[in-house]
Amino acid sequence: MNLKEIWQTVLAEIELSISKANFITWFRNTKIHSRKDGVVTISVPSGFAKEWLDSKYNKQILKILRNNSPDIKEIQFIIGSQTPTTIIKRIKKKLIPNSVSDQLNFQEFTLDKDTNLNPKYTFDNFVIGSFNELAQAAARAIIKHQGNLYNPLFIYGGVGLGKTHLLQAVGNDLMKNSPNKKVKYISSEKFTSEMIDAISNKGMENFKNKYHKIDTLIIDDIQFIAGKEKTQEEFFNTFNALYQKNKQIIISSDRPPKAIATLEERLRSRFEGGMIADISQPDMETRLAILKNKIEEKKVKISDDVIVYVATHIQSNIRELEGALNRIIAFSQVNNTIPTMKNISKILSQIINTPKKMTNCKSIFKAVCELYDISVDDLFNRSRKKELVRPRQISMYLIRQELNGSYPYIGEKLGGRDHTTVMYACQKISKEMENNDSLQHEINIIKERLYN
Ligand code: ADP
Ligand code: MG
Repeated sequence: MNLKEIWQTVLAEIELSISKANFITWFRNTKIHSRKDGVVTISVPSGFAKEWLDSKYNKQILKILRNNSPDIKEIQFIIGSQTPTTIIKRIKKKLIPNSVSDQLNFQEFTLDKDTNLNPKYTFDNFVIGSFNELAQAAARAIIKHQGNLYNPLFIYGGVGLGKTHLLQAVGNDLMKNSPNKKVKYISSEKFTSEMIDAISNKGMENFKNKYHKIDTLIIDDIQFIAGKEKTQEEFFNTFNALYQKNKQIIISSDRPPKAIATLEERLRSRFEGGMIADISQPDMETRLAILKNKIEEKKVKISDDVIVYVATHIQSNIRELEGALNRIIAFSQVNNTIPTMKNISKILSQIINTPKKMTNCKSIFKAVCELYDISVDDLFNRSRKKELVRPRQISMYLIRQELNGSYPYIGEKLGGRDHTTVMYACQKISKEMENNDSLQHEINIIKERLYN
């Protein structure tokens, strides 16, 4: 086997063991550069991929290589031969904008009228990590064993974590493999409104017929039927009709069945009778993979520093991750520049809640005294001098604002003052802050010193 063939064998095996999205993200544009004295050197497209492959896939690659050639002892990674300037030239070329939507490379997808499925949601662009592995595996199993393995399949998880994507991917896959089967994707809200329409237009028979004929019913965000008695009843009927015929039902929710208040007991127990799988928050590796994947999809170049920054700062929600990326892409294309780290923190400042840095009373006292040029003891004594009263009040206000201190606690910290005095001080400063520019400025200076 030549080097190319050896690498093909490795890729073929790896491709089977990880998701397509992860595979494309990390293994595209890799090859064996050389093989010498039992050391195989693999060329990869970037420093980032090098680090990642080395830490996550080194063992797996080595194992596959050794299966074929036991004399291989070690693997190394090098960054491929592209020079940075050629990369930058290529990026610049790509960045020349036509229109913003072109730049973002948004693809227009149309919903299928019968199924309500959006073809953009597929398994190919669904990144898998430990956070969604179970839900994904259960969903895939359904495709092979419709109606008789996990029925219903109930997937739950917080906003923007991929429930809709996963549900629709199942639907799209089913349609691809068995186009004659009737698949229907619907949100529980839409289900409700269709039902209400049917009732008011005397179309309940049609409504029932339509739903009872479906082979796979996918209901998104079922939590919205909580409290709606009539909808629950109709859904229960539909559920039973389908269930009895071994038709597949897939449900998503933002919480597990037992946490949906005012869900009728009979529905709850139906939901709990199938398979329940959750989607939690993606870990760092997966967040990076998701970003990389979307960048590939949108065919833009973004530096690894930036990708890591985004993945580090946006942790809880894949939709936000995408949103951040779209902003960065829009920025770079509108300005026709490659965004620097400085740009990025600015672009993302609105969506990233920088974790609040901690401070304490001692630092507040120090910062206040430095600004007003008084000693810390002056804060604690009983003098009524205006130039001392004011810094005291500002200290109280800051302890309240920054440390959420209770009034008695603050009083105690400032030399044993009554809590009503503290309350008065905090309110006074708060009120003054609204229209006293110089006070605002002073407090900003103090905060600056506290946190930088
Ligand atoms: P939910 O329905 O849980 O609120 P969505 O399915 O709408 O979340 O996902 C939000 C966005 O994140 C969508 O654009 C979706 O394509 C994307 N997304 C979610 N999970 C993944 C994933 N595992 N891999 C790639 N993209 C994902
Ligand atoms: Mg959703």
